[in-house]
Amino acid sequence: MSQLAYSSVPVWARPGGTSDLTTPEPTGSSYVLVGVGDVADLLARSEARLPHGTTRLHGDVASVTPLLATALSDAVVGVRVHIIADAGAALALRAVALNAGLEDDEIEIVTVTAPAPHRPVLEIFCAHCRTVTRASARVDDVVACTGCRRDLLVYHHVSRRSGHFLGFMVDAETSRPSCGTAHPTDTDQHSATHSHAEEAR
Ligand SMILES: [Zn+2]
Repeated sequence: MSQLAYSSVPVWARPGGTSDLTTPEPTGSSYVLVGVGDVADLLARSEARLPHGTTRLHGDVASVTPLLATALSDAVVGVRVHIIADAGAALALRAVALNAGLEDDEIEIVTVTAPAPHRPVLEIFCAHCRTVTRASARVDDVVACTGCRRDLLVYHHVSRRSGHFLGFMVDAETSRPSCGTAHPTDTDQHSATHSHAEEAR
C-alpha cells in the first residue's frame, strides 16, 4: 500500500530501509571508497576487502563531495565507487558518481542510520521557486523553503542527477491555488519528476 513502492527513493534511503555491508565484487579496475560521518569502522572493513591502491575519502559531505568529483574525473574506465554515509549524503554522493558517468551497478552504497530522533540532512528542491534547501528531514516532513518561505512537504521522489528530494507546498493538494502561479517551469529532469508525482497519487 505504501506509496514508497512507486518511489524513486532508493530502498536504502527510505525510513527504516537497510542495506547490509556486502563484500564488494572485485570487478573494477580501481576503487574509490567514500565515508561520511562516524563510519571509520565500516570504512576500515570495506577497505580491507578492496585492492591496494583504493582511494579513500572520509569527512563531512561538503568536503568529500568535491574530492569524489575530482577522483572520478581522474579515474580510468572501470572505476567503482563505494559509499558509506547517511541517506542524504549517500544520495548527494551517488549523484556525483552518476554525473561522472558511472552506472548504478558500479556504485555500492551502505547507509548508516543514526539513532532516532536524528534526521539526516537532505537537500530539498522547491517545485515552486527552485531553491534547494538543506534541512534535517525525512520523507513526509515539512520544511520551510529558504527561497520562497513556503512550507514544503518532502515528497518521496529523488532526482538521480542531483540527489535532491522534491518539495511541494504542504497544502498544495488540498487547496490548489487557482491563480496558476505555482506551475514549475522545469528542466527535463524535474518535469519528469513532476509527472511522476502526478502518477503516484
Ligand atoms: Zn521555494
